Amino acid sequence: MKYPYGNCQHCGERLYAHVDGGYQCHNCHQRYPEDELDGATA
Ligand SMILES: [Zn+2]
Repeated sequence: MKYPYGNCQHCGERLYAHVDGGYQCHNCHQRYPEDELDGATA
């Protein structure tokens, strides 16, 4: 299932770019690897 880039799958909060790459939700601290989020666009 794909989910909108920029929104947490768990709580719906917006995601922020993480210093180590990928993204992180500041609300529940769920991490999202960039390759996991971005599968369609190059
Ligand atoms: Zn969240």
